[in-house]
Amino acid sequence: MKELIVLGSTGSIGTQTLEVARKQNIRITGLAAGSNYKLLEEQAREFKPLAVAMSDEKAAENLKIALKDTDIKVYSGTKGVNAVAVGKGDMVLCAIVGIAGLESTLCAIDAGKDIALANKETLVTGGDIVKRKIAEKKVKLLPVDSEHSAIFQSLQGTPKGSLKKILLTASGGPFFGKTKEELANVTVADALKHPNWSMGQKITIDSATLMNKGLEVIEAVHLFDVKPSDIEVLVHRQSILHSAVELSDGAVIAQLGTPDMKVPIQYALTYPERGVTFEHLSLTDIGTLTFSKPDTETFRCLPICMEAINRGGLFPAAANGANEAAVGLFLKGKIKFLDIPLLVEKGMETASKNKDFGIEDIYNTDFLARETVKNAL
Ligand code: NDP
Repeated sequence: MKELIVLGSTGSIGTQTLEVARKQNIRITGLAAGSNYKLLEEQAREFKPLAVAMSDEKAAENLKIALKDTDIKVYSGTKGVNAVAVGKGDMVLCAIVGIAGLESTLCAIDAGKDIALANKETLVTGGDIVKRKIAEKKVKLLPVDSEHSAIFQSLQGTPKGSLKKILLTASGGPFFGKTKEELANVTVADALKHPNWSMGQKITIDSATLMNKGLEVIEAVHLFDVKPSDIEVLVHRQSILHSAVELSDGAVIAQLGTPDMKVPIQYALTYPERGVTFEHLSLTDIGTLTFSKPDTETFRCLPICMEAINRGGLFPAAANGANEAAVGLFLKGKIKFLDIPLLVEKGMETASKNKDFGIEDIYNTDFLARETVKNAL
């Protein structure tokens, strides 16, 4: 039986991963999250892992008290999350949101674990370092993001070197078709109404700005060793075709399914085996699949991310840090929706042009970009 550690277990991806684990009879050996100790306690009582952690020290204290009748080890703080990441287990599913997920992912790779990666910010900020370590440790890096899983699935059985182009689909989010004028006064509640997917708050706002698609372009560059210009973003409102690849002979291969994250999560956990069906896709019920070009004039975050990855080095980390800060401010009602791309662009410009950088440079870049956003208020 596979032994799995879940980082970010209380979130949208984390809880769906545990649903998959129940169906697949996967043994959960470690659980970690931020501050939701009540849910982590429930999860710990059900799955009986060897160790759990909360990055929030107060929450960890509460969890320790709640679990004192068990022999589950309770760790605290970022170091505690890292301790869970390197504990007993074959695979670590990384679903902490934001750059906060980078360190524990690197720890897990260092400990020789296979990685099922939901946390796209890990590759956006530390892609080169992550890939180097993956190769050094000879572990697997399996995508969980639905688009990247679709690309990965579409590439199964194709000869190396035959990939010509990636067709990366985007739902277009809740504000598809809106003009800048119409977006000027949208509220947080409007931005959180995603038409097809139920996800955590940060990625839902990123979907509304198309930053999510920009981050995914950068993620795809790292995962599939392609140039940004080899990736075409297509708006596909139905979220049924989860992405496709065009091969050297012009053949296009895609993966389709209902919009349900349990499918890519399961594929990462069971690869190369196929798991169980969660929901049947009826193409006749769907009827029509549509595709169009994204509106990059209105949704500036996508071209900003394209620029960041084309400039390379620390620019993606700066754009990501600025976005995390700007989304946080938007969710608190401190800035307007259209301020997000302006701040991401401003933050991106703070990156040093240094191409030879280490993990500390990434954290410094992230810090500087966040400070720039804060000071721009
Ligand atoms: P959520 O906000 O729902 O969950 C985030 C998780 O991260 C929670 O368990 C939270 O814990 C935990 N967390 C936050 N900060 C820390 C920290 N400093 N240390 C440890 N744990 C922390 O996010 P999602 O599940 O939606 O997204 C997770 C990742 O997966 C993101 O990178 C996202 O881009 C990616 N992703 C998500 C998809 C989705 O459908 N949701 C689809 C594809 C990718 P707590 O709540 O206890 O504080």
